[in-house]
Amino acid sequence: KKFVKETKGRKELYNRILELKGNIRVFCRCRPLNQEEVSKGDSVVVDFEFAKDGELVVRAPGSQRKVFKFDSVFSPQADQEMIFENTSPFATSVLDGYNVCIFAYGQTGTGKTFTMEGTKDARGVNYRILEELFRIVKERQGLLEYEISVSVLEVYNEQIRDLLLSGSQPGVAAKRLEIKQVAGVHHVPGLVEARVSNMNEVWEVLQTGTNARAVGATNCNEHSSRSHCIHCVMVKGQNLISGECTRSKLWLIDLAGSERVAKTDVQGDRLKEAQSINKSLSALGDVISALATKSPHIPFRNSKLTHLLQDSLGGDSKTLMFVQISPKENDAAETLCSLNFASRVRGIELGPAKRQL
Ligand code: ADP
Repeated sequence: KKFVKETKGRKELYNRILELKGNIRVFCRCRPLNQEEVSKGDSVVVDFEFAKDGELVVRAPGSQRKVFKFDSVFSPQADQEMIFENTSPFATSVLDGYNVCIFAYGQTGTGKTFTMEGTKDARGVNYRILEELFRIVKERQGLLEYEISVSVLEVYNEQIRDLLLSGSQPGVAAKRLEIKQVAGVHHVPGLVEARVSNMNEVWEVLQTGTNARAVGATNCNEHSSRSHCIHCVMVKGQNLISGECTRSKLWLIDLAGSERVAKTDVQGDRLKEAQSINKSLSALGDVISALATKSPHIPFRNSKLTHLLQDSLGGDSKTLMFVQISPKENDAAETLCSLNFASRVRGIELGPAKRQL
């Protein structure tokens, strides 16, 4: 009885999140003010009075209030469990043979890494979704058999680096890694794929990737805010009764910070970094919104990131983007940019009919 009830509950959650609408979901998550900001008395411009309906209100500069609507909105009180409860149906999709991309987008410091990677005491989506995959694999044992492997890579300045390749230094391994198309499938030949069969192995792989990100970087935090960190979970499934096989990929992506840098502030390497971040984030926005509006041309080849994800965006693949924001007044301009980007991604252009309060 308990199993039936649980299964029914999960099915309802799955339907609510995945089945009823198109293939692109946008969740908005706002981080809390940190202690320093609270003690300085920083003012807050994001309001969640409509959060239940997926709406939030931002007091824009000049006191204009703008309403944004997403598939779900998570206020600063939402914890990692609540976020994952709404993300977990994507694990079922992957094991059913669908490709899934989960992104965290937003200004540096808004909680992208917190949502995806989390901390030891508050684990994020990357760890939890693998845990959920293993839970479902166990539940399906006897009917279906699965093989799961994980790759960890980074895209920095339009170059791909394998973070599981030992001794891989920024810019060194990158040159050898290119995207190839074989039998209609895009992949990176030579990329390390670590086979995992339990959560201890997953944890080890995730840690190896995290540690490798720091290798060779003079400032690890700065480096990670300017590169895209990508986990690719590859799933091979076999139905033991029909013999039917499935292959699917789950991409978990902590994107580079979306903040705009004033042209006058940067030169040399920083300028190159800023240009490649702009290029790949706008290419991503263009691809997802072209898919959402069913445009006949999808510009996958405009950046390494979208090229890499070509098989997993569009078609019957599923996409989830977390747009991460800060509640602070000082960040309002960046917050509005991120929310506008996310609205565009959802395929809903905010025209002049924008609701104003
Ligand atoms: P980003 O990856 O976007 O640069 P981080 O994930 O590094 O941002 O977050 C910046 C800081 O804010 C970190 O110390 C992180 O632990 C904290 N933080 C972010 N979101 C939350 C949250 N929802 N709850 C508690 N702390 C958070």
